[in-house]
Amino acid sequence: MDFELPDDVREFRDVTKAIVKDLLQYEKEFQDTGVVPPIVRQTLIENGYFALPFPEEYGGLNQGALMQCVVQIELARLPPQFWTELRPLMGPGAKNILNHASEEQKARIVPGMVSGEIPIAFALTEPHCGSDLASLRTTAVRNDDGWVINGSKTYISNGSKAKEIIVYAYTDKSAGARGGMSAFLMNSETAGYSVDGVIPLMGTATPGVFELSFNDCQVPADALMGEEGKAFHYALEGLNEGRLNVGATAVGMGEYALELALEQASIRPAFGGVIADFQAIRHYLANMATDMRAARLMLLEACWQYDQGQGRREYASMAKLFATEAGSRTVDSALQIFGGAGYCRGYAIERLYRDIRITRIYEGSSEIQRNTIARELLKQVD
Ligand SMILES: Cc1cc2nc3c(=O)[nH]c(=O)nc-3n(C[C@H](O)[C@H](O)[C@H](O)COP(=O)(O)OP(=O)(O)OC[C@H]3O[C@@H](n4cnc5c(N)ncnc54)[C@H](O)[C@@H]3O)c2cc1C
Repeated sequence: MDFELPDDVREFRDVTKAIVKDLLQYEKEFQDTGVVPPIVRQTLIENGYFALPFPEEYGGLNQGALMQCVVQIELARLPPQFWTELRPLMGPGAKNILNHASEEQKARIVPGMVSGEIPIAFALTEPHCGSDLASLRTTAVRNDDGWVINGSKTYISNGSKAKEIIVYAYTDKSAGARGGMSAFLMNSETAGYSVDGVIPLMGTATPGVFELSFNDCQVPADALMGEEGKAFHYALEGLNEGRLNVGATAVGMGEYALELALEQASIRPAFGGVIADFQAIRHYLANMATDMRAARLMLLEACWQYDQGQGRREYASMAKLFATEAGSRTVDSALQIFGGAGYCRGYAIERLYRDIRITRIYEGSSEIQRNTIARELLKQVD
């Protein structure tokens, strides 16, 4: 049993730590203006973060779940808007493309994804259904020129800038989700496609998420990604492995909050000493550190399993569930340790408190993770 990170992962993590430390200097400018300084994106592209999961033949770095999550733990210290474009690249969108796009589709878009020229969006959620994927209403109907897509999507990250969109649609409703749902890679220039609205968010991932409409969008036959009728499986597969990345985000935010709380507890004067003198504060810190250590270990072990080709759905769900809930508890306790300052804009804790909240909802809510874990466990009972 070896708990050391492999050398290449450790080295890239250390490079990332240094880059993150440097990029944190732009946080204030971003908070003041709401605009991410272009140097942030440029730095992430130049240092290979957009390339991590993709094969070398397309300019990628061919890295697995462990590397991606270790890197994401570090990036999560930055405001989400600094790295939110990476979510589809390390989450379900990338898994879909890697596992199911044709060689022609990959050759067409992956080099642009790696260079940052082709941002993508993963469009599954609809106005009336998120967790209940099988209820989506978007359809794709075959005609002589390929497929015609109609429907609408909501809460789509990167929606406004995406040049290629992974669209989930029913191609045969009568076959049900497991036989009638298909995925398409659609260019944003397609006639009939529009970004209708932006939904502002509680966290700092401005400018928000987007509503997309598809009105008689004619796409060619080769826009189909993978096999017709198999996309429900692709969605679950992509979300399952992709949710490790959300767990990593929560580990990164929780660990950052713990670090800030430790510093604050050691310097904040009260009653003739500092607040770290009080057992109540020490117990907060002990619980936070224990939570974050358990979350990190569970997450990295699940990543390791995926990289061995033995990824198990319930382990990814457990890692996401525990890391996001432990991270949320930790950030909440850190805010308590900061007292009034923790509630004030301008403190990283206040931002983390808002930003970590979404990790318990997207890529499968905590309730959906519990359902998944229980379902997988019960399958093992004779
Ligand atoms: C910032 C942000 C970014 C996002 N990015 C994307 C994106 O890029 N692409 C995309 O496709 N989607 C995206 N989403 C959508 C996200 O994945 C959904 O919000 C999420 O899956 C939950 O779906 P919902 O909001 O429809 O909630 P619902 O499915 O309506 O759930 C509401 C509540 O009911 C609970 N619930 C539902 N079903 C069950 C059940 N069977 N058992 C127990 N409890 C249940 C849920 O856990 C939740 O607490 C994003 C959302 C946000 C807020």
